[in-house]
Amino acid sequence: MAELVFFSGTMDCGKSTLALQIDHNQRARGREGLIFTKLDRAGESVLSSRLGLETTAVEVGDDLDFWDAVVEQLTAGGRVDYLICDEAQFYTTRQVEQLARVVDEMGVEVTAFGITADFRTELFPGSRRLIELADRVEVLQVEALCWCGRRATHNARVVDGVMVVEGEQVVVGDTASARAGVVEYEVLCRRHHMRRMNSRAALAASPTPDTLPFDLDACPLPPRP
Ligand SMILES: [Zn+2]
Repeated sequence: MAELVFFSGTMDCGKSTLALQIDHNQRARGREGLIFTKLDRAGESVLSSRLGLETTAVEVGDDLDFWDAVVEQLTAGGRVDYLICDEAQFYTTRQVEQLARVVDEMGVEVTAFGITADFRTELFPGSRRLIELADRVEVLQVEALCWCGRRATHNARVVDGVMVVEGEQVVVGDTASARAGVVEYEVLCRRHHMRRMNSRAALAASPTPDTLPFDLDACPLPPRP
């Protein structure tokens, strides 16, 4: 029975690597599928993993209709046994609903991958809809680590070296513009996310280069706005 499965996790937890692995396993069994992604760090129409593997993929624009995409492939004489959907946090709620319909009415297996929450710790709309509709949600527990060594569970946005908690929900990292500054992302444990203590701030706060401020007392919670 086909299922809609959502693999979620922080950045750097191996989602795209697993997406590529699942595609490989399916192909090895003689099955055929379509791969989708959106705003991958490697550029348009590429699904890439931090380990250096990549494959071509269909770029998901806001006007893409998953139902139509599958119908088009079938009409052209192709086979569609499964869909791999990476960066699904960026999909619209309508697109996630289309994925559920593809599973239910066409019997196509859909495996989606995404970050659940943004840098403000709020759910992305696409991820929220996936959590609401998926047959199964799997939380990837690949050990992405905070600078302090705890398991990293939260994504931080860092602009010009400083962690921020306000701004647009979607800004692709490693990009620079005169207006926005250099935007990067860093995974942190919840304690250090709430204290806005990214690795650079931790270094700056350390009395000597060898002594990071592991004691939480060294980094108090910022005042509530
Ligand atoms: Zn930490």
